[in-house]
Amino acid sequence: MSRQSPRLQRFYEELLEKDIAYIRPVFDITSRVGHRYSQIDDLLETSSEETLQMLESLSNEGVLDRYFFDKLLSCVKCGSLNVRISTHCKKCNSANIYKAMMLQHEVCGYIGPEEMYRTTTGLVCPKCREEVIFVKPEHATAKISNSSDHRAPIALNSLNVYSTLYRCNHCNELFDDTVELWHCLNCQGRFPKDQVGEVVIYSYKLNEEASHRLRTELRPRRQLQEFLEGQGYAVESPAVIQGRSGVEHEIDLYANKQQGDHIRKVIVGVTRSNGEIGLEEVLKLYVKAHDIGSKDVILFAIPRLTDEARQYAAYYRMKVFQSEDLQRALNDREVWDFLEREEPALKRKEEGIAVTRKRV
Ligand SMILES: [Zn+2]
Ligand SMILES: [Zn+2]
Ligand SMILES: [Zn+2]
Repeated sequence: MSRQSPRLQRFYEELLEKDIAYIRPVFDITSRVGHRYSQIDDLLETSSEETLQMLESLSNEGVLDRYFFDKLLSCVKCGSLNVRISTHCKKCNSANIYKAMMLQHEVCGYIGPEEMYRTTTGLVCPKCREEVIFVKPEHATAKISNSSDHRAPIALNSLNVYSTLYRCNHCNELFDDTVELWHCLNCQGRFPKDQVGEVVIYSYKLNEEASHRLRTELRPRRQLQEFLEGQGYAVESPAVIQGRSGVEHEIDLYANKQQGDHIRKVIVGVTRSNGEIGLEEVLKLYVKAHDIGSKDVILFAIPRLTDEARQYAAYYRMKVFQSEDLQRALNDREVWDFLEREEPALKRKEEGIAVTRKRV
């Protein structure tokens, strides 16, 4: 949690505050991966790929649960999702095939393709030589309703669709099942159906446990922010602050306010672990604070620091609060006293000296 970037923080806040249960993808053929999480792209101003990476890594960390959403098909050779299916003749592999309806003249039982009925004078059954009519299935309903009075004669000599087959224009073969071939529009490769690659795409959901943990963290963060704002501070949480070295530091909460002739800069770090938190977190926060020029540093250690880390924190004059969660840590009156107090006169004097030196 301590390593939460401001972007990630915003992501969590939006999920919780807007009650976004599922993060679902939308299909997008312009995207290399064929889909985007546009809601999150817009929210975080990230590229689709950055969003996807973030969601995947959060799912690996167990913060997000992942669910099957759909499957996209891809080229076996180049991985492109720009693939099309084409149907071919079973015998000669030509794509020059068409659907041929097998028509039955029910009265005499003859079955044959439409062309067998065709003569110069119209449709005639080749077996019984009766004139017949054929109403294409898609037009049948309209025809019947328009001429309901003549239904009987139509039915008598009409042809029924017996089955649909395919006819190859190249070799004239008649067959009931086509061969499917996949064609990649990117690398122009062709491959059979069983070689098509599959890309599973997911929807994501904030895991129950993580959701609970974040809620217990978000509220107190806001509480801190509101309190400091009430005290006249400009507050950013989370914040990215450029230090004197030029390096940008990610800070959980940064507040600053003009106090007399100097600016009081308060830095709040929240660090969390399953066990004790080591020296490294203390050092990192110290380096950031030093570079930013802040002497008022609070470290919330959830649940606690190691003895060594605590010693260093004391040596660096950090205020350390240890608790099971941030909400409980804020029950400590000392947190608010520390934030409320004006900076001691001694520090002001130091700043004064620095200013004088600069003038010389
Ligand atoms: Zn390809
Ligand atoms: Zn053929
Ligand atoms: Zn007939």
